[in-house]
Amino acid sequence: MATKTPITVAHGDGIGPEIMAATLHILKEAGAELDIEEIEIGEKVYLRGISAGIEPSAIDSLTRTKVFLKAPITTPQGGGFKSLNVTTRKMLGLYANIRPCVSYHPFVDTKHPVMDVVIVRENEEDTYGGIEYRQSDEVHQCLKLITRSGCERIVRYAFEYARANNRKKVTCFTKDNIMKLTDGLFHKVFDEIAPQYPDLVNEHWIVDIGAAKLADTPEAFDVIVMPNLYGDILSDVAAQIAGSVGLAGSANIGMKYAMFEAIHGSAPRRAGQNMANPTGLLLGGVMMMNHIGQPEVASRIHNAWLKTLEDGIHTYDIFKEGVSKEKVGTKEFAQAVVDRMGQKPATLKSVEYKNFKAPTQIYTTVPGSVKELVGIDVFVGWKGTANELAPILQLAEGDGLKLDMISNRGTKVWPDGFPDTLTTDVYRCRFLKKMGSKTMTHATSVSQMGRLAAQALDIVKFESLYTFDGQIGYSLGQGQ
Ligand code: NAD
Repeated sequence: MATKTPITVAHGDGIGPEIMAATLHILKEAGAELDIEEIEIGEKVYLRGISAGIEPSAIDSLTRTKVFLKAPITTPQGGGFKSLNVTTRKMLGLYANIRPCVSYHPFVDTKHPVMDVVIVRENEEDTYGGIEYRQSDEVHQCLKLITRSGCERIVRYAFEYARANNRKKVTCFTKDNIMKLTDGLFHKVFDEIAPQYPDLVNEHWIVDIGAAKLADTPEAFDVIVMPNLYGDILSDVAAQIAGSVGLAGSANIGMKYAMFEAIHGSAPRRAGQNMANPTGLLLGGVMMMNHIGQPEVASRIHNAWLKTLEDGIHTYDIFKEGVSKEKVGTKEFAQAVVDRMGQKPATLKSVEYKNFKAPTQIYTTVPGSVKELVGIDVFVGWKGTANELAPILQLAEGDGLKLDMISNRGTKVWPDGFPDTLTTDVYRCRFLKKMGSKTMTHATSVSQMGRLAAQALDIVKFESLYTFDGQIGYSLGQGQ
């Protein structure tokens, strides 16, 4: 008798309870050895005044089982409710989001008959820290944070996943022609790690043309790894063009915890009608079975599900006259999958899972570099021009610091700005340490700020400028 693996299950809102019941029925009939703890999340919890949408006792269950099968929830309208997905992702350190996007031609209508792409999305960093500021009447700012360890974790995960799943190629998407430091780091780490996997082809695309190619010719891709924001957008695009967002499941993986779900929401208009397609959550459940070391159950379910699709037993969302044979509800669909347990698809490619665990070695390179303070960028609120601002800033020079440049929305506007550059009401004013002047410290920066304040300037924020082993750690002004 195999030991049962404890998991936490949440039935969610809208169609959640129906698709979860269908999924659990299939898991049980496939021989899944599970010890299920049930928790409540979502709308009811939010409306009880718990802004995170999850009770502390439910979190206790997650920390106990470390594996979460989650149905979609409804986030109530109005402010004050925190996204449960973002909370669980961050709280449990679920750094990798994995979404297989597969087309099932000729059984499910698609413009892309030969699509089999896995999107591996970094799940915690980038602009998703939600660190935002309003700086002036005009300017609003969002911080994009990318770390070396974050890049190493996700890139290594993508390569390990590709190898374990007999994939041939890993592609990286970034926008490092513009964001040379943040996306540049992601790309650099990709280039550092790729040679450790000589059995896999690797390539990099700039995300804009990469996204266009993915939407047009998805068969050109295999596994694609990318930072959070691009991954968020493109994983939905990929799932939709494969056939339907209703068909895709997703895994959120961390070093200790993992969460499995459908990619779609709670579809409230379809709730309670036995109509919804349980496939997204079911395929999330299949990934869970593989994750917890029951790959044979994962394969059995996946193959029975493929056979059901092939036999034309379809829910309303993928039903097509002439292709489908029978339109069924959620329960009947689940039963059809159960009835085909042990069978394999005849036309579609059958699946054989091999237990795959996230790599436990997170990062290999923690560079210790020589970090030197060489200047400061002071962001100043100013309604006039750069030529009017520059002399005031120069009056505030001192302690070996010299005004080097002023930029506006990233473009250099002083010295020698282009007169037609459109400017707004916050300027970045760069003070650099003069050649030969004494070592700069944070006290130097503070004195500089004091002199600027004495000129009654509106100091929005400042940023220290460092070099690392002599390499500059800040971007130049565009046009500089
Ligand atoms: P949705 O994904 O719930 O629905 C989009 C469309 O797809 C609807 O037409 C719906 O009927 C259809 N659809 C979705 N899943 C289906 C399924 N399994 N079978 C058949 N048809 C399906 O997106 P939405 O309407 O924008 O959001 C509804 C609610 O879900 C919102 O409260 C939103 O916040 C929430 N949501 C939750 C999650 C989550 O919990 N992971 C994700 C996205 C949205």
